[in-house]
Amino acid sequence: MAPPTLPAPLRGVSKQLNRAITQALGLTEAVTLRRTDPTSVDAPLTAGPVLVIGSGPDADAVAHQLHDWHLDVRRNLQAPTQQRWGAVVVALTDLEAPGEEAERVLALGGVLRELARSARVVTLSRAVADGDAPAVAAARGGVSGLVRSLGKELRQGATANGIELADGVGVTDAAAIGTLRFLLSARSAFVDGQLLPVTGRGITPEDWTRPLAGTVVVVTGAARGIGAETVRVLARDGAHVLGVDVPAAGEALAAVMNEVGGVALQLDITAPDAGERLLERVARGPFNGRLDVLVHNAGILRDKLLANMKPEHWESVVAVNLAAQVAITTTLAEAYPGLVQVSLASTSGIAGNRGQTNYGFSKAGVIGATQAWAPVLAAGGGRANAVAPGFIETEMTASIPTMQREISRRVSSLGQGGKPVDVAEAVAFLASPQAGGINGAVLRVCGQNLVGR
Ligand code: NAD
Repeated sequence: MAPPTLPAPLRGVSKQLNRAITQALGLTEAVTLRRTDPTSVDAPLTAGPVLVIGSGPDADAVAHQLHDWHLDVRRNLQAPTQQRWGAVVVALTDLEAPGEEAERVLALGGVLRELARSARVVTLSRAVADGDAPAVAAARGGVSGLVRSLGKELRQGATANGIELADGVGVTDAAAIGTLRFLLSARSAFVDGQLLPVTGRGITPEDWTRPLAGTVVVVTGAARGIGAETVRVLARDGAHVLGVDVPAAGEALAAVMNEVGGVALQLDITAPDAGERLLERVARGPFNGRLDVLVHNAGILRDKLLANMKPEHWESVVAVNLAAQVAITTTLAEAYPGLVQVSLASTSGIAGNRGQTNYGFSKAGVIGATQAWAPVLAAGGGRANAVAPGFIETEMTASIPTMQREISRRVSSLGQGGKPVDVAEAVAFLASPQAGGINGAVLRVCGQNLVGR
């Protein structure tokens, strides 16, 4: 039966009430975000001209790079005629004491009313390092609070993020540029209010539109939701994909893999021989023994308050979401020491969430394992990173009670839930050489909504 609809005049009142509540609570109204198409890369990089704030050599070098990408780059604060700023990049890499940031930050403040829908603000700064003088550390550390707070102030789908460079990594090193490109683009639509740490130099992809050309990628949980969209985005970016899911999802898995010309493997990742089965499958055609990237995406929810938790609720979640990941990577990394791994964590593993002690344990465990794998895989030329989605509209989250779902959507800085493609784009970015300088990190894709905080 269709739900009853309000008469037109009452609908108007309801809309006004909704807006009043949104404003009173300081919540953001949802706008349509500028997103990518998982099957095409035609979209322009930014939604309008790019303003670079800062006057030192790093600001000059970044402006030069943006010119090379054929962007309309401006160095003065005059608003572009008839166009709004698609992005503002603020160079803060030279900060040595609090106060030195003020002029540039206030200049940024002066242009915020001229941002386009889904515009980007990206800061470039240095990470606090061991041995930094207190004044240097104070100025560098401050940037994170600026970015996180600004993310909560921006409207109309605009986001604020930063790149935190380790000492020794230059603003035009491949990894810094690759990260800047991701943050400027529509691929980062639901990434907001965070700093991405770049600690290594990375490699510039030969073709920015197909950064994974020729690579072989395994994706678990590929039959639906985030996994299926990840398969599509990875294939768009040039990867040959081996998609894995449980036999019960075999038909859906086959449909997704056929769509992209990939290969389907029906496999329960908790099977004791799951790692060997994967090795055996990549050894044969069309992969012929090649494996570059492993995406640990399969996951389940069995939400219960701990007081009501049955052993099977706890054990199944930890087995699928965590133990299987560790076991599979242990087997695969022995054969492929330079593996690039991307694991699906969750903001519930960072902030905690009522009813999710089992899930929170598993996802915080994924972050712990990622940090442990990072130096091990780096020794072989690989990397390990995690993506922590917030509230994403999938069949998994459709099982959450309606009111809790609506709250999860509304309390983000973007006023809405994310889409599977938002997470898929973050996974594909971390899988690509573009992110070659990022290792052991957690990239949140949550619209600045940490569930449970
Ligand atoms: P989903 O339930 O829509 O899809 C998960 C897929 O994993 C399914 O196809 C399922 O069959 C498969 N799977 C489950 N157990 C498996 C097993 N033992 N072996 C092989 N495959 C198995 O979930 P989703 O929403 O797309 O989530 C994907 C990942 O992202 C999960 O790890 C989830 O925890 C994480 N995540 C999702 C959200 C969200 O809001 N949707 C938020 C945070 C994290």
